[in-house]
This record gives sequence, C-alpha cells and structure tokens, in this order.
Amino acid sequence: MQYRRLGASGLQLSALSFGAWMTFGRQVGRGQARELVAAAWDHGINFFDNAEAYANGEAERVMGDVIADLRLPRDGYCVSSKVFFGAAEDPRPTQRGLSRKHVVDACHAALKRLRVDYLDLYYCHRPDPDTPVEETVAAMDLLVRQGKVLYWGTSEWPEALIREAAKFARTHHLAAPTMEQPQYNLLHRERVELEYAPLYSELGLGTTTWSPLASGLLSGKYADGIHREGRLAQPDAGWLQRLVVGHSEERRLERARRFVAVAAELGEKPAPLAIAWCLRNPHVSSVILGASTPAQLRENLGALELVRRYDEPVWRRLEVAAANV
Ligand code: NDP
Repeated sequence: MQYRRLGASGLQLSALSFGAWMTFGRQVGRGQARELVAAAWDHGINFFDNAEAYANGEAERVMGDVIADLRLPRDGYCVSSKVFFGAAEDPRPTQRGLSRKHVVDACHAALKRLRVDYLDLYYCHRPDPDTPVEETVAAMDLLVRQGKVLYWGTSEWPEALIREAAKFARTHHLAAPTMEQPQYNLLHRERVELEYAPLYSELGLGTTTWSPLASGLLSGKYADGIHREGRLAQPDAGWLQRLVVGHSEERRLERARRFVAVAAELGEKPAPLAIAWCLRNPHVSSVILGASTPAQLRENLGALELVRRYDEPVWRRLEVAAANV
C-alpha cells in the first residue's frame, strides 16, 4: 500500500480506502462485511468511509461492529462520518442539514454507531442553503476542540463556498476544512481537475474521491445491460440506474465501452485500470473504493501496481476514449 498526506495536514491515509455506501446494511450481510473490512485491512487500507445516511445509519452500525470484532487498533485506522441528509425515515426538521444542532447530534450518533470516541474525518455531505456557513464552521470547530472530530471537510461543495468557510475559519482562529470528498472518475472530471484547482495550493485542500468506477460502470459489467444481481438491481435503485447510465447526451455507456476496449488492447482488467487513472492525479489523497465481494476488492487493489506500469501517453489515451465526443 502507498500512503499519502491528506492535503496539507499531517494525516497519512492509504491511497486506496474503502467505503460502505450501498453495500453495508443493504446489499451484503454481516459476514461478507467482515470479510471485506478484513481484506482491506490486510492489504494496508487504513481509512473506512461512512455517512449517517448510508442505509439509515445501519452501514455505520455494521462497520463499527465489524471493526470491533476484528479488534483493529484504534490508532491504526481512520473512520469517517458525514452529516446533512439525516436518516430517510426520520422526519424531524432538526435532524437534517448543517445547523449547529444537527452537526453535533449527528456526530454523537455516529460515534455510538461506529463504537469510537472520536471521528478521524467528518464531512458536511452537501452544502445547506438554510444554514449560514459561519454556523456550520463554528459547530465543526467546537467538535474539533472537544476532541470528537480530528479533521473536518466538505463533500460536493462549490469552490466558492469552501473558500468562504476557510476564510471565516482562519479569520476567527477556528478549525478550517481540511478535505473535500468529490466524485472523480474517467466520466466525471471537471470539479477535481478544474473547479478545485486553485484550492490545492491556496488552502492545502486534500481530496478523498468517490465512485472511481462510476458505480461499477467502468468495470465493463453493464455493456450488455443491467444485471439481475448487484447494486443497480436493488429494488429501490431506479434513481441510481438513471444516474449511472445517465442521459443520452452524456453517452456514458458508449464512453465506458470505448474505455473497456482500450483496456482490453492493453491486456488489462478495466476496473483496476480505471482506479489507477484516479490514483495518478497527485491532488487525490485517497481513492475510496466500493466492493460487494472480497474478490472485487482484491482485483481493484491491483490499481497500485498499474499506476507504476503506465506513463502519461497511456493515461491520455484512456481519457480520449472516455471523453464525451
Ligand atoms: P465504485 O464506483 O468503485 O463502485 C463500487 C461498486 O462497483 C461495487 O459495490 C460493485 O457493485 C462494483 N464493482 C467494484 N469492483 C468491481 C470489479 N472489480 N468488477 C466489477 N464490479 C465491481 O465506488 P462507489 O460508488 O461504491 O463509491 C465508493 C465510496 O465512496 C462509497 O462506498 C462511499 O464511501 C463514497 N461515496 C461518497 C459519496 C459522497 O457523496 N460523498 C457518494 C458516493 C460514494 P456490484 O455489487 O453491483 O458488483
């Protein structure tokens, strides 16, 4: 495994990490979840990503139980949670968004579910237009000062809002955001490569990126349609199918097919190659992997080797293949 600094902070995260979205508490049972975390840990993964909203909190419960059961040393791994969406089945207006109340309540609830005394990383899962950004920054600062959160950050915030939060924090000597969690893959590049570009040096922003395979699309598995098993076949995943396959003008299936064809010419499996492409960006602190089987996870870990095997002309060729032209 390779370890990278989380932006300008001193935290060393594994370049590949592992997240629980759509799998823990939903698609895979506890036994399989345990195998996945054990395999990740055995291969040097030290960051496990979660959110209050994943399976209405059940993903964090499973993650917490499995980590405790495996007796992973608390000073050797990092866990995250994210606040904003609340739990789908909880209609209370105080229990969603980024108000001081929900940021604090959600942190306490995540600590219990994950069975830890502090969260290593805590994200604002989306911007909240109904809460002043100053209130959210102050709430995060409070949790950092109380030792309940080590590093806080954002997920899918516009560049200007991250800059505003950082400026307010610095002016008032509060804890500033350390990292952002954006989507980043061969079909979705703009935010990481263009929008956030000034923030890496100006703020020392780190990134932990999500959906390196565009929910599995870049593995080539959907070339002949949606399978009866797996993420997109779940009964309530219609919205995700539309997101993954996209509108016709996005040509996502066609672009994925072209990428898979180049991978085949290189003699490589598409999934680890797509992940390696994410890893070769130096502004990516950690690529968060998703996997529903240990075999997928092991295959994807091959990305570490592929980054070293290929140089720029090959990465450019893959970008051209996956471009929307
Ligand atoms: P990916 O895009 O890598 O998709 C993972 C899924 O693709 C797996 O669950 C599996 O689905 C399939 N897959 C994985 N490896 C292979 C393989 N080798 N061959 C074939 N299929 C494969 O990542 P995710 O979308 O899961 O995102 C990763 C993490 O990022 C999440 O767990 C979460 O922690 C975070 N995230 C954060 C978001 C945010 O808003 N901050 C949003 C989304 C994710 P299947 O079971 O169908 O085979």
